[in-house]
Amino acid sequence: MSSGDTKLSHVVLIPSSGMGHLNPIVRLGKALSDRGISISLLIVRPTITAAESSLLSSLPSSLLIDFPLAPFDPSLFPESSDPVTLRWEAIRRSAHLLPSLISTLSPPVSSLIIDITIASTFLPVAVAANIPCFVYFVSFASMLALCSVSPFIPHPISTDVNIAGGVLKIPYSSIMSPLRDPNHLFTTQFIENGRALTLANGVIVNTFLALEPELLAAFNAGEVVPGFPPVIALGPLPLEIKQPSSHSPALRWLDEQPEKSVIYVNFGSVAVLSMEQIRELGAGLEMSGCRFFWVVKTAKVDREEKAVDIDDLLGEGYVNRVKERGLVVRGWVEQDVVLVHRAVAGILCHTGANSVMEAVVAGLKMLAWPRGADNRVVAALVPRSGLGIWPENWPWEAEERVVAAEEIAVKVREFMADEKLAETAAKLGAAATAAVQEGGTSDQSWRYLITKL
Ligand code: UDP
Repeated sequence: MSSGDTKLSHVVLIPSSGMGHLNPIVRLGKALSDRGISISLLIVRPTITAAESSLLSSLPSSLLIDFPLAPFDPSLFPESSDPVTLRWEAIRRSAHLLPSLISTLSPPVSSLIIDITIASTFLPVAVAANIPCFVYFVSFASMLALCSVSPFIPHPISTDVNIAGGVLKIPYSSIMSPLRDPNHLFTTQFIENGRALTLANGVIVNTFLALEPELLAAFNAGEVVPGFPPVIALGPLPLEIKQPSSHSPALRWLDEQPEKSVIYVNFGSVAVLSMEQIRELGAGLEMSGCRFFWVVKTAKVDREEKAVDIDDLLGEGYVNRVKERGLVVRGWVEQDVVLVHRAVAGILCHTGANSVMEAVVAGLKMLAWPRGADNRVVAALVPRSGLGIWPENWPWEAEERVVAAEEIAVKVREFMADEKLAETAAKLGAAATAAVQEGGTSDQSWRYLITKL
């Protein structure tokens, strides 16, 4: 990314918080910069996670503008202990500080692109300041549909949600638990952000027409919400693959594995399995007999990870027993680099929207195990698109059932042996590539967006 003084438009991107929000907006910024737009990122420091801090420090400092927060008292929201949701709220409540900050920027700001989680307060400020403002919806169109209809449906949500006369049906069982509680901070944010979307000049989504065709058509025909702004499906955003000059020990282990032999297991930047489930998963991966590369998290915020020995987590002798076939890693891995590694055949993940799109780009099949948030709404796309399989009876969020090692082992074995799935996932990857190539549907969306910016 370069700040490129000679460029005409200057777009300020405003991420919120969490790697699942920062990573994609940085990718979007890079893609804009590659298309001749000058960009800046408005950021709040210190970040909640070390991973965000490390990503920001890898960017040219000339692109980063510190956004000061207004005083904020998190104890007003006793039901929300999630530091990321609280940070969204702190940023939302600081929107009034935006105009004076951006009035000092040079070249003058031509447009804003804001993260969905802060849309409800930033959009009115942008409209009042007469600055075109686009929202980056960091998930798929199916989740955007739920967000945009949320102001118009009864709360608490207690049934399936039907969208655009049945174009999409979101089962009640896929609605994340905070959204079932009308007094939860997340629900307030979700509904207010959904309501404000009609003020946007467009809503950018990292998806592509062939992945969600009926729903995208319904959005742009005004059938989801009348008067909704254009939904700009410009995905997949290119991955930021930084080929390391020397491979880390984890990547060196992958280098030694046969082609297309390894299942990569990672539940994203925030989802955490219970200790009991971690042990069953460990035993299941071992029992499956398949090669695996597993990134284990035991804390929601990476700065709070305790330096627990893997054998203490998984049982004495585990690491040694599996070492020929399996690698267990603590901490952050460069997922984009791992996904395109020639040894990786498939991914078991929580269907975080970014991870799903990254797997699509890599043409990798997926074993879906949604854990919370938008994960189940997104997981529905996995079997529908041919990307992979979703054992729908596997529990999520705080459900008490623990999936036993034997059940995991059988499913992993079946998944890894499924050649047909590898083919359909590769086909989907090819469709994604075609979408962004010259004349493709996402390429057309890009041209539209650049004109508007
Ligand atoms: N990620 C990564 N390494 C990790 C864990 C996550 O690079 O060890 C990246 C992943 O590639 C994705 C983002 O962090 O871009 C996580 O976003 P996603 O939407 O998949 O899930 P979330 O963490 O928001 O639940």
